[in-house]
Amino acid sequence: MSSISEHLAAIRAALPSGVTLVAVSKYYDAGAVRQAYDAGQRLFGESRALDATAKYEALPQDIEWHFIGHLQTNKVKYIAPYISLIHSIDSLKLLAETERQAAKCGRLIDVLLQIHIAREETKFGFTFDECRQMLEEDTWRRFSHVNIRGVMTVASLTDQTERIRKEFRAVRQFFDEIKGRYFAYSSAFNIYSAGMSHDYLTAVEEGSNCVRIGTSIFAQ
Ligand SMILES: *Cc1c(COP(=O)(O)O)cnc(C)c1O
Repeated sequence: MSSISEHLAAIRAALPSGVTLVAVSKYYDAGAVRQAYDAGQRLFGESRALDATAKYEALPQDIEWHFIGHLQTNKVKYIAPYISLIHSIDSLKLLAETERQAAKCGRLIDVLLQIHIAREETKFGFTFDECRQMLEEDTWRRFSHVNIRGVMTVASLTDQTERIRKEFRAVRQFFDEIKGRYFAYSSAFNIYSAGMSHDYLTAVEEGSNCVRIGTSIFAQ
C-alpha cells in the first residue's frame, strides 16, 4: 500500500458516514492524484483553474473535480465545462459569471457561497451581512444554470481549538438561517463545507458534512 492509500484509509475511518471527503490535490501532481484514485478516491479539489484543467485532461474521466480556491471571474470559463462544484463563490459578480459560462456549456453547476469568518483579513468570502444582502436581492433567483447547494468556510489559522470551534458553529448556524429563509423549498441546499487537515474533526463535530483535506492525504 502507498502512504497515500494508508492516509486515505485512516481519514475515511475517522469520518462519520454522510461526510464527503474532498481530496485536495492542489500542491500535488497527477501521479499523486492517480495513487489516490487507485485507492478508490474519486473526488478531488483544486484551487487554480489552469492546474485543475490540466489534471482533468490528464486523468480518468470518472473523477469529480471541485474548485475550492479563490476564483477570478476571467478564469471561470476554463473550469465551467467540467467542474462539478465550486466552493468559493464570494460575490454576485462571480455567481453571475458562473451562470453565464454554465449556460454557454449547457450545464447546471453546483456552487457554495463562501463565508468569511476567520480573523485574517486576507481570507475571501462574504460576511454574514453581505451574504444576507445578496440573497435579499432577487438577481440570483433569475439564474437557472447555477444551483446554490450550501456554504463553505475556512476557519482562522490558529491552534486555539475553541476559537475554531466557535467559527465553525457560527457558520453552521448561518447555514441553517439562510436555508430556512431562502432555500426552504430546496432539499438540494444541504452542503456545509468546512474543515481542512488540521481542523476537520472539529468541523465535523460542528456540523460540516464536507471536508477538504490535502496535506494529511498527500504529504509524505
Ligand atoms: C488548501 C486548501 C485546503 C486543504 O488544506 P490542507 O491543510 O492541505 O488540508 C482546504 N480548503 C481550502 C480552501 C484550501 O485552499
